[in-house]
Amino acid sequence: MKITSAEFVISNSDPKKCPNEPLPEYAFIGRSNVGKSSLINMLTNNKNLAKTSGRPGKTQLINHFKINHNWFLVDLPGYGYAKVSKSVKATFQKFITEYFEKRENLTCAFVLVDIRHEAQKIDLEFINYLGTIEVPFCIIFTKADKIGRVKAQEAVAAYRKTLLANNWEEMPQHFITSSEDKTGKDEVLNFIGQVNDD
Ligand code: GDP
Repeated sequence: MKITSAEFVISNSDPKKCPNEPLPEYAFIGRSNVGKSSLINMLTNNKNLAKTSGRPGKTQLINHFKINHNWFLVDLPGYGYAKVSKSVKATFQKFITEYFEKRENLTCAFVLVDIRHEAQKIDLEFINYLGTIEVPFCIIFTKADKIGRVKAQEAVAAYRKTLLANNWEEMPQHFITSSEDKTGKDEVLNFIGQVNDD
């Protein structure tokens, strides 16, 4: 699939105010600084669609973008940023869980993890949470250009091992990406295109 149009629709912190057009929706989420904004900009061929974060943890909103007039890309706030207050964290948790548990047109969540780091507790908790509420998801490994192909494969194998040790039966669908050199761009977009066509 090629992206020919990407328009910002709405930002909000209330899942009830998300657009009610019944289009398939794909949500992107991960720890602050994981490279989410860069990935969204890379996928949509737009340098500024998602704001790359000078200040991690700043964007605490659900951002909807309409792509090719027929699906929504949703940029969710980064989690796990230590410097936000407890009350911000609690509010965040509430609207994010409400989003994941109630959003009927949510087709797939993309959980972003930095390929350089071993599986982080907060990501595993989040992945397990998605499993519990039965939201389909894929893992997107980011910043692959920083380690090279062999190390990237090793990192994925290590991640798989950790997930199996966390009671997952198999490694979920996953993508190795780099916003620097566009690795994985076609794979992620083709996956979305295929799911939309099914
Ligand atoms: P976000 O907080 O998850 O939205 O992360 P950003 O997209 O703002 O990226 C955080 C930092 O990682 C920035 O300094 C980016 O330039 C850098 N970054 C993001 N993606 C990549 C990538 O694929 N390769 C490299 N080398 N750096 C990246």
